[in-house]
Amino acid sequence: MYICNTLKFSDIYGHVSLKKKLVEQVNNNRISHAQLFYGNEGSNSLPMAIAYAQYINCTNKQEFDSCGTCPSCNKYQQYIHPDLHFSFPYIVSKADDIELCDDILPLFRKSLIESPQLTINEWIEIAKIENKTLNIPIKECRNIIKKLSFKPYEAEYKVVIMWLPEFVGKEGNVLLKSIEEPAPNTLFILVTENPTLILPTILSRTQLLKINLYSREEIKDYLITQLSIEESVSNNIALMTNGNIHKAKILSEKIDYSFLSGFKTFLNDCYQGNSTAMFNWAESFSEKGKDDAKHFLNYILELLRYSLIVEHRSISTEVAPEEEKIIVTLSKLLNLKGRETIYKAINQAFFEIDRNGNLKFIIINLSLSLKNNFLRQPKAQSN
Ligand SMILES: [Zn+2]
Repeated sequence: MYICNTLKFSDIYGHVSLKKKLVEQVNNNRISHAQLFYGNEGSNSLPMAIAYAQYINCTNKQEFDSCGTCPSCNKYQQYIHPDLHFSFPYIVSKADDIELCDDILPLFRKSLIESPQLTINEWIEIAKIENKTLNIPIKECRNIIKKLSFKPYEAEYKVVIMWLPEFVGKEGNVLLKSIEEPAPNTLFILVTENPTLILPTILSRTQLLKINLYSREEIKDYLITQLSIEESVSNNIALMTNGNIHKAKILSEKIDYSFLSGFKTFLNDCYQGNSTAMFNWAESFSEKGKDDAKHFLNYILELLRYSLIVEHRSISTEVAPEEEKIIVTLSKLLNLKGRETIYKAINQAFFEIDRNGNLKFIIINLSLSLKNNFLRQPKAQSN
């Protein structure tokens, strides 16, 4: 199983050529002292940075991976190696005695042990920092400079991993000297989701490594082979998650996919204008909650997108046969104007869900919009 809490390269699904590149860098002594790992949420960029650092310091390197059992790997896997440092967005709080990242490191460590694919929203929830502005303040930057100015304590390389440097403000320019002239054997790895938000002065001084999101086929394969999710469900999740492996895992755990077959009936009821059935469906669906509703809306958007494509060329193998039927039906039932109206209705629904609108009414409104915009055809068919 790929998802586990140790972080060898082999614990990270896929990205084969990237891992090979990183291993070669180390083995050819071409470790750059300031690197920027850039990957969207769900690309596994943070786990990759940690696995890379673990490999660099492993004292019993295997051909393509760290050993996972030497003293260095052991400390790495618990994130307690004295030469491994983390910096991340947080909130300074006098009341809670939090000045530096190190002051909430135990919580950050615990989060990584639970899931190294930590996302910013999860971190906000874990650290209970909702409705406050996160950042990486000047004090923390100075602390990083201090860390980078000393030689490693026991490892070959000291590593500072800064997660989300986009949270560093202008004062981050104090870091430039350390990035340019680091102490020997110190490594600064920045892990970003959006390099355009990083100080250009920092950006230009790092070596960029792009970590792609996964392909739809990879996500499907991951779900089937690693999480033992059945093929048709894996297909649906892969379609919804746009290459975000973390989201795929969460969906596979949380979402009830029985709604999919219900959705076909729902579309049919909308088409037929069967209001009672539409309302009943909205009622039962609204019980699933906000997150499921949003995934559902994303899913309709994807199906609509495909229904547009299918008019112009034959459908690819990316979708499951059951979905293909829905897509072809949608393409027949919607003209351009209808499609536009439904897009707007879905966006409105997202907006209202985010503002804690009543889910039942939101879904009912959407179903009315579908009903009113479907083209009437002599023979009612949506299956
Ligand atoms: Zn090792």
